[in-house]
Amino acid sequence: MALLIDNLIKNVSSDPLLNLEMAANFLAKATGADCFILADGDGAPYIITKSGVSDALAMPDQLMYANLHRWPITANAVMATGHVYVMCVPMLSARGQDDFTNEKRQIRDSYMPISGYVYFQSLNAAHCPATEFVTKNIEIFNLLSNFLGMYHVHTAASTDKMTGALNRRYMDLALEAHLEQAKLAGSQFAVVMIDLDHFKHVNDTYGHLAGDDVLRAASAVIMENLRKDDVLGRYGGEEFIVLLRDADHATACSMADLLRTKIANAKILGGKRDITASLGISVYPDHADTIKTLVDKADMALSMAKECGRNRHEIWNENMSGFATAKSNKQSFFTGDIAKDAKRMQELFALMRISRASISITEKINMFLDRLYTSITMMDITLFLVSDDKMTDSFRLTEAGIKPPEYNDKIIFDAIQKQQGTYMVDWDNDKIHIKTGSVDLQSICVAPAVSDGIVKGVLYISISAKTKEFAADEMAFVKNAAIVIAAAL
Ligand code: GH3
Ligand code: MG
Ligand code: MG
Repeated sequence: MALLIDNLIKNVSSDPLLNLEMAANFLAKATGADCFILADGDGAPYIITKSGVSDALAMPDQLMYANLHRWPITANAVMATGHVYVMCVPMLSARGQDDFTNEKRQIRDSYMPISGYVYFQSLNAAHCPATEFVTKNIEIFNLLSNFLGMYHVHTAASTDKMTGALNRRYMDLALEAHLEQAKLAGSQFAVVMIDLDHFKHVNDTYGHLAGDDVLRAASAVIMENLRKDDVLGRYGGEEFIVLLRDADHATACSMADLLRTKIANAKILGGKRDITASLGISVYPDHADTIKTLVDKADMALSMAKECGRNRHEIWNENMSGFATAKSNKQSFFTGDIAKDAKRMQELFALMRISRASISITEKINMFLDRLYTSITMMDITLFLVSDDKMTDSFRLTEAGIKPPEYNDKIIFDAIQKQQGTYMVDWDNDKIHIKTGSVDLQSICVAPAVSDGIVKGVLYISISAKTKEFAADEMAFVKNAAIVIAAAL
């Protein structure tokens, strides 16, 4: 029985998950067996989608055999529910047309990574396909292998490597998409911002590797306790955001309190120290009807929760209107230290004088860099010139005797695209980890130089995170400096 691949191709969409769902339905219908499609998950396989009556794999160990042999495996066994028949097809990351037809291929295939499995199971021997089914319909399995590849690329791009939560970009997309759905359906939903309490202290006391473990553990606790359709995103370093579907005030508060309690009781860090989180909530449509305002209000509520002693949740209310968000708190470069603040003002005026001086643009840039280099403790400063959203040139000043660190291209790109600055310890810069094999992380502070709504440049400063981490007031100062510089470019 050769199946018609055309039926599958006709319905291919740009959503890799939909394609896999369609393929599972198609194969289940064609065979009469239940069909599961699994991702390999680096040796911890998980079900991506399934079609049929059963929820679980009756013989999960067959995945291991299929993996080992790189070949479709058939098996049957007597179970409590009756006799079960299984076939498991390993999906290799790159597959040619003649797979499974030539036994010699096995040797070559054993070097190829497995991307997932197609697993059939039935209580009826006649419905469970045999190895022949795969050889006869190899085009379909090849197509499926492509679907799986697309699925993996998509998941890698949308999830945060460390925690498995959605990354910020995709979380924003998920929130926007859900807002549209809720508008149409007239439903409510809640946005919950979660920030770990005194996390800096965890890093300082136990080191940032332990800090990373805490982040992973905290996000695992959150994921375990969310309802099926809720979504978790990692919004910043140790800040998470949750989309609670169909949640009104009461549901949002009880979910937030559940997450808070579960985190507090999880004995993350082996009980060496309490790990707690504070949460801020906003609800659509009562509090706002745009994602930006919902997030801002959840953030205000979060600031309130911090202010009121941490390890608690707050839901936004009118009285918080004047309450600055944690983010906006961080926008001023005034530190409250009068001497320091006065000096920062002087530095900005000095930059303005350079900007107006009648010297060449290259001289101006070199003077800007010199000036900034001495006004903030740093090891490296670069000004990228940007035109038409592309970098055209760069000027750099690096502390004598050190090897200039690698840039994080993604952050430069974001600064240009979003016209927004950021400061962080560059945990994600793989180049750094791979090249040095060490954890000499950089604290970086990046700001776009924007003039008349056009990005003219990007200012990028960095220092070894062992020496210091840039703080919010420095970010704000660099942002202002970039504005002054933009005027000269
Ligand atoms: P608060 O209770 O007010 O939230 O105090 P806090 O110490 O948690 O303060 P804040 O939220 O400002 O500090 C966040 C710290 O999280 C700063 C940064 O060093 C750390 N951090 C951010 N991302 C990561 C990460 O990926 N891994 C580790 N280990 N630390 C991170
Ligand atoms: Mg934080
Ligand atoms: Mg925190």
